[in-house]
Amino acid sequence: MCQRSSCREIWQQRPQVRRKPATGFIEAPTGPRWIRASMVVTAAVFSVLAASAEPAWPWGGDDHRTIGMVADLLLEGTPTGDKVSGVLGGATLSEASLWADCAKGYCHRAPTAEERAFTDQNPRHHVFHYTDVAVQQPGYRLGAAGTAPDDIVQIATTAIRVLQGRAPNNAPATLNQRSALWLLAHLVGDLHQPLHVGAIYFDNSCEQIVDPNVAGAGQPNFGIGTTLASTRGGNDLKTGSTSSRRNLHGYWDSGTVTGAMRLVDIRDKSIEDFGQEIVENAPPGWQTAGDLETWPM
Ligand SMILES: [Zn+2]
Repeated sequence: MCQRSSCREIWQQRPQVRRKPATGFIEAPTGPRWIRASMVVTAAVFSVLAASAEPAWPWGGDDHRTIGMVADLLLEGTPTGDKVSGVLGGATLSEASLWADCAKGYCHRAPTAEERAFTDQNPRHHVFHYTDVAVQQPGYRLGAAGTAPDDIVQIATTAIRVLQGRAPNNAPATLNQRSALWLLAHLVGDLHQPLHVGAIYFDNSCEQIVDPNVAGAGQPNFGIGTTLASTRGGNDLKTGSTSSRRNLHGYWDSGTVTGAMRLVDIRDKSIEDFGQEIVENAPPGWQTAGDLETWPM
């Protein structure tokens, strides 16, 4: 297997994404529509941050808290909002959206007894947060390279079923109504982060980006980690100059959110103000169509 550093060098030499000078927006990347959609939404943010000299953003959960806040604002004063508050024992979705990461230890406090119980019951909870579908694929299909029976799509679907009172017997996660709700509040955010759902793979020379469904066909786990190199959800991809190099995954998780706040002139990182701004200026067609159960796909 090739050295990861080789892949990094190749990635850093990649052709630069072209920009539209009139608006500052980055052109929509090529690739499956399901990945393109979320990338286009944040493309303007990316272009702003590309010009920034700020070195790095620590994980702060602003992304998840903002998404939870939008839901809190939309549900305020509704029967559903009251029900959500009851299930969460008075906590908000903005607060609860962090608990799945806190259970992993990615938090500014120790895991609570509830989070520890969740991890005890779900020892593979670390993998609940992503799926690694090759970017060449037109969409998600369980069984394809990078997918798993307990990946984010399967777990989000399970959480929805638990909340509907239709928990399957052979569920890939052990959830009750409360943990299903706080897990789903978190996974909604992860699902919309392109590097949590799409993945780039290299061949064994690190010279070609390949689709493991083709290049690794017939091999155990499609050759991922043996004859093909994964870029681990963008964690092995670096962006920026040598002096301010950033992990692309972390950049999407935190940098783009900070940039989006700057775009609407929120300088104090107020999650409530940012959520309000999004609710008041919701992009057209944001509502998800179709049966709830199909939604995570
Ligand atoms: Zn996550």
